[in-house]
Amino acid sequence: MRIVVVGAGPAGMAAARTAADAGAEVTMVDSEPEAGGQYLRGSARFGHSGVTHLKNTEAWLVEGNTLHLRGPEQLRFDALIIATGAYDRPLPFPGWDGPGVITAGAAQALAKQGVTLAERVIVTGTGPFLLPVATALQDLGATLVGVYEASSPARWLREAKAITANRHKIGELAGYRKVLPRLETRTAVIAKHGDRVTVAKLDSRWRPVSHRTVHADLVCVGYGFLPRTDLLPDARRTNDFYDVDERQRTSVENVYAAGEVTGIGGADLAEAEGVVAGAAAAGLNPPAKAVEAVRKGRLFAQALARAHAVQPGWQTWPAPDTTVCRCEKVRLEDLTDATGMRELKLSSRVAMGRCQGRICARNAAELTGVPFDGQRRVIAVPIPLGELAALPEENKS
Ligand SMILES: Cc1cc2nc3c(=O)[nH]c(=O)nc-3n(C[C@H](O)[C@H](O)[C@H](O)COP(=O)(O)OP(=O)(O)OC[C@H]3O[C@@H](n4cnc5c(N)ncnc54)[C@H](O)[C@@H]3O)c2cc1C
Repeated sequence: MRIVVVGAGPAGMAAARTAADAGAEVTMVDSEPEAGGQYLRGSARFGHSGVTHLKNTEAWLVEGNTLHLRGPEQLRFDALIIATGAYDRPLPFPGWDGPGVITAGAAQALAKQGVTLAERVIVTGTGPFLLPVATALQDLGATLVGVYEASSPARWLREAKAITANRHKIGELAGYRKVLPRLETRTAVIAKHGDRVTVAKLDSRWRPVSHRTVHADLVCVGYGFLPRTDLLPDARRTNDFYDVDERQRTSVENVYAAGEVTGIGGADLAEAEGVVAGAAAAGLNPPAKAVEAVRKGRLFAQALARAHAVQPGWQTWPAPDTTVCRCEKVRLEDLTDATGMRELKLSSRVAMGRCQGRICARNAAELTGVPFDGQRRVIAVPIPLGELAALPEENKS
């Protein structure tokens, strides 16, 4: 039984180990030089005699039971597990594309390497991820001007079931106690010009009700995460996350998905889903402990999605000349009236640049009211034409 796992984060590593323990021949592919994914960032020591780990290797297409890799190389599989994770979502405001504004994920990745880019920093966005980022920056000596959470914590009062099932998450809050005094809720950065940063108090729909100016060198922006679901453009999804059954099967035959591609719930849920997917792909019944961890973790993930859902009032933050698509320099006023994403792209060039809409497509869809059609690309990562030309003839149709 040949199992291929794409992604070596908490989900992919757990899936690969579990499948190899069950006797499958496993290959784990990841674009990074070391295993660990976003959370562990190279600090994980992955080793298993039954797993071949292909490092620095990007997968770009699933075609039947073949996975295409940059190179170009191909891997045949009996079962494929996709564990490609997520990336963080910025929202545009005047100045967000200038110096001194980065995503919260980028700030965290740099902090894990001991780098902070500025003295006075702000972390703004929504969701619990803001707290570890703020803590990491403060631990590196940055002055935390503010941690601005756009949502209201009162939304969590409706989520008693999820909280009861995941009490350990409350304990995790204690680790962030040093930054809690800087936390302001229903608040967001809505403009930055030089070191002058406009901070607004928001209503429940995130429309500004008042604002003030503070001074900071760096603003770290994170409005939740978007899944990297481009490898399976035809799989059934909800809100762009893959739909999976209780064995982590997607709607595509012999293809499983685990971790943040199925919903955002943290590294422990990703790992539990990896165990379930690895066992199921190898033909075993998933361990009851992992199944239960997935059940509880999903309650938390669903509560998180509700409590920190991006609200439409953000669409009042950009000015007409605010950049929406950084790659193609498309401003809000350049977005055309369109009925669908394809027409919007062709008429304004939004989402047509190097990032292929990963950063801007959802924002552009919300700003114009066109339905967001998800991350559906035939080729999942940018590849040179030479690599396509080098494919065997039978793959070129
Ligand atoms: C930038 C960032 C920083 C984060 N930092 C933290 C943190 O500090 N603390 C925390 O609790 N949570 C953090 N998170 C949330 C964290 O990602 C998850 O909780 C957890 O890592 C999810 O695990 P995963 O296995 O689903 O995906 P990931 O850990 O994201 O792993 C996915 C892996 O797939 C690889 N990959 C993706 N596409 C391809 C492809 N086409 N070909 C080959 N390889 C591919 C990626 O390189 C990555 O190594 C962070 C998220 C992001 C986006």
